[in-house]
Amino acid sequence: MTESCVFCQIVAGLTPATVVRDWPETIAITPLNPVVDGHTLVIPKTHVRDFTTGAYVSAMTMHRAAELAEDSGPMNLITSKGWQATQSVFHLHLHLVPRAENDGLALPWYSGRSRRPQPRPSSRRCSRRGGTSSPATPPRHPTSRPTPTCTRHGPSPATTDDPQAAARTAD
Ligand SMILES: [Zn+2]
Repeated sequence: MTESCVFCQIVAGLTPATVVRDWPETIAITPLNPVVDGHTLVIPKTHVRDFTTGAYVSAMTMHRAAELAEDSGPMNLITSKGWQATQSVFHLHLHLVPRAENDGLALPWYSGRSRRPQPRPSSRRCSRRGGTSSPATPPRHPTSRPTPTCTRHGPSPATTDDPQAAARTAD
């Protein structure tokens, strides 16, 4: 047990938690702020930092998560390594997140590097001289609308959320 680790404290019974299931080596709890009903954390009772430390412990935790989710519907299983990957508690934990159509959660991820199906080129023309329309660039955020892009002037300043890009494209 690591005394400063909140999950070790929960396993030791020193910090209260809503226990969903308790196995000899693993515990499943409801997080403090579940993102949807049924959001559950599956946590090994042995302190391991993340899924890359303690392969057997990680495998057993995954096994328990699978047991717990076996009869459920659509679901994400999410775990992280490192704060850059949004790990906030450095004791391995697997998020089980039940999903439903239009549940409003942000997954699937979208990065500017990935290629999404592009909308067909529109018949709109750039309002500035000499420009031609091209397919809209993908949105930066899944809820954002695609940004129309002029092949000569770049993203439309009226629709971009980047003031510097708008300034660069201004004639
Ligand atoms: Zn711990």
